[in-house]
Amino acid sequence: MDFFDYNKSGLMAEGVSVARIAKEVGTPLYIYSQKTLQRHFSAFATAFESVPHLICYSVKANSNLAVLRTFSDQGSGFDIVSGGELYRAIKAGADATKIVFSGVGKTDEEIEFAIKKKILMFNVESPQELRAINRVAKRLGTVAPFSIRVNPDVDPKTHAYISTGLKENKFGISVKDAVAEYAYALKSLKNLKAVGIDCHIGSQLTTVAPFIAALEKVKKLIVKLRKAGTEIKYLDMGGGIGITYDTEEPPLPSTYAEEVIKSTAGLDVTLVFEPGRVMAGNAGILVTKVIYTKESGKKRFVVVDAGMNDLTRPSLYGSFHAIKPVRPKGRAEVKADIVGPICESGDFLAKDRKIEEVEPGELLAVMSAGAYGYTMASNYNSRPRPAEVMVVGKEFEVIRKRETVADLIRGEHAKLELNTPASNKKGAKRGARKGLKKRGAKKYRPQSEDK
Ligand SMILES: *Cc1c(COP(=O)(O)O)cnc(C)c1O
Repeated sequence: MDFFDYNKSGLMAEGVSVARIAKEVGTPLYIYSQKTLQRHFSAFATAFESVPHLICYSVKANSNLAVLRTFSDQGSGFDIVSGGELYRAIKAGADATKIVFSGVGKTDEEIEFAIKKKILMFNVESPQELRAINRVAKRLGTVAPFSIRVNPDVDPKTHAYISTGLKENKFGISVKDAVAEYAYALKSLKNLKAVGIDCHIGSQLTTVAPFIAALEKVKKLIVKLRKAGTEIKYLDMGGGIGITYDTEEPPLPSTYAEEVIKSTAGLDVTLVFEPGRVMAGNAGILVTKVIYTKESGKKRFVVVDAGMNDLTRPSLYGSFHAIKPVRPKGRAEVKADIVGPICESGDFLAKDRKIEEVEPGELLAVMSAGAYGYTMASNYNSRPRPAEVMVVGKEFEVIRKRETVADLIRGEHAKLELNTPASNKKGAKRGARKGLKKRGAKKYRPQSEDK
């Protein structure tokens, strides 16, 4: 369910015409509907109303501050996977005590930052990480709360790149090893306190069965851990509920909730969820302008001003995104590849797609681009990243300015200012003349630099 619908002025984002926003802000452009974000959150929260739970929106799906604020205003916590995401969440006004920290490669600096902010818990993904958190907590003279992310070895039946709960995946700790790690932490890691258990098996799941299969394994583990004296207060089920991009029929939050609530009855835990895609995916679109159309042999191409650097999903996962004219005119449909300006044959938004015969200058809307859209965007081919806009009813606001070419080179400089090796007299003199020679800092300087 979203609030992108057609009326006589073409595609609308809530009460604002998409064409009008594009005219004022330019393209390519991400547009989010706040009402859609709020509705998705409420649907999830309502579904779990009857049991103790905490929703921790997964920041990596869409990390714009205004998106994060929209969720925190509804009471959401956050699932983060880096110090940068923690910084964002705090800047957006998040309650740190509702933040969980996942990810296989947390550094000491990130761990320290999170401990100081007093997050709810670390979701630990390896024995070494467990010891690292203990070490940092000890240095800071405190006790850090943790859960172990168990890898239940369950097939989520989704794209290989977004499957995380199979034993060949890099994520989590096996059920067997988790038992030993909790026991070791209880006995020997005095600056850690177990508070829960965590399990995230993948993304874009379209059935509930894998979640329940993972849950069955985790439930047994909880019983075992409690017997051994470990306290398990939180059961974090991760994220992963899919959305409709094309013809998928993912479970409704209410269906998912029903099954999860039934399966966890009497377990005496607070359920934690880390939904990302299902919150933000269908709440955003990418608006792009047709630059050229061309034909070569039997093939037709629509060249647009958004590329794989703006929306990576089609190139990275072969994903489907519906693409619609912002102002449809009922013309004949043709089959075309909709491609970006990037110098890669993998740069496409759609292949062999049936679309109205569009013309240069026209706007297209790439649907379901609210999750893993902007957050995965890059500057490849030295392309400034797009603007982001939030629509609220009949109003809209730019929530991230379009990057400029000056942004592209921020932090760079062209002329090297290395020190000159002492043996190179000519160079040394020149270096001294320019006031660049630093005592004791002898850096290699290539000869060719002097020419
Ligand atoms: C990516 C991720 C999520 C969110 O996944 P969605 O499919 O977007 O719901 C949740 N938890 C963890 C640990 C993740 O890495």
